[in-house]
Amino acid sequence: MKVTEKNLIIGGVTIEPGEVKDVALFIAKQYDFTEIHMPVKVIRGTAEGPYLFICAAVHGDEVNGVEVIKRLSQHKALQNIKGTLILVPIVNAFGFNALSRYMPDRRDLNRCFPGNIHGSLSSRLAHLFVTEIVDKCTHGIDLHSGSHHRTNLPQIRACLFNKETIDIARAFNVPVILDAQVIEGSLRKVAFGKKMPLLVYEAGESLRYDEVAIQSGLHGVLSVMHALSMIEHKEKKQKKVRSIVAKGNFWIRSPHSGIVIVKKKLGTIVHPGELLGIISDPLGNNNIEIRAEKEGLIIGYTLLPLVNRGDAVFHIATFERTQLIEKSLEAFNDDKFDYEER
Ligand SMILES: [Zn+2]
Repeated sequence: MKVTEKNLIIGGVTIEPGEVKDVALFIAKQYDFTEIHMPVKVIRGTAEGPYLFICAAVHGDEVNGVEVIKRLSQHKALQNIKGTLILVPIVNAFGFNALSRYMPDRRDLNRCFPGNIHGSLSSRLAHLFVTEIVDKCTHGIDLHSGSHHRTNLPQIRACLFNKETIDIARAFNVPVILDAQVIEGSLRKVAFGKKMPLLVYEAGESLRYDEVAIQSGLHGVLSVMHALSMIEHKEKKQKKVRSIVAKGNFWIRSPHSGIVIVKKKLGTIVHPGELLGIISDPLGNNNIEIRAEKEGLIIGYTLLPLVNRGDAVFHIATFERTQLIEKSLEAFNDDKFDYEER
């Protein structure tokens, strides 16, 4: 670990133990020569502890995580933390300002890590984020939402390579954990290479606020901080959700192009043969059914009613024991997130 307790410098700004500082990390100038920055808040406790970064909007249009960090940064639980918390609400500032998932060079930033200081604009931004933030941390949480008109049930994706990662994934307190594969160029791959526990939280859809996604995300990051002994704060009236690691996950793709009506809700357990959706032509003729082939839980689906043949329509997670996931979904749905936010 490069980091030491005394020496934390981000964007040329030194942050001492006990200090809270906002840093604007310079990314680049725009066409009109105005500067674009990555906003960062660093909160350092006086006591030793983990260095945790929480980031959002690596995909610029995934705004639920931005709101999670905004609410977290004002939360009273952060008044006396152990260790260091680094909040980066908007990593892809270009995409965020353009309401776009991508960078101006049309790249997906989450395929450009760890980046290169001499590379493309996306590669340089990735390099900045890795060298200024990730390299200075021991743990990370990356907040995302569904892309391309799809929405996700709150879920954790992580490379479950060690016990600590499994423990904090469970601490996040959402029903489903996917033991995700490492994707080339992703932030997760950088963390995996460093043996750093990193959670990816997926919830809701892009360009829309979803209160369940936001509140469960806020609760999740606070629970992880609690599990890492960074805060003492305990949520009020919070039910413990037993998180279940999925056995597998797969997409059900559209068998035909047309207009799709989805017949099941997010978070529904489906059984073989059950009707999931109907595709028809614009006059309502030629109905084509989409039926479940296996038992599983709907963890994501398309909100766009127009599909081409082969488009991903339902994301299904499968489990060893369906009764367990049923119970944890019940606990999650019963939770009204009735706690003080700040
Ligand atoms: Zn994303």
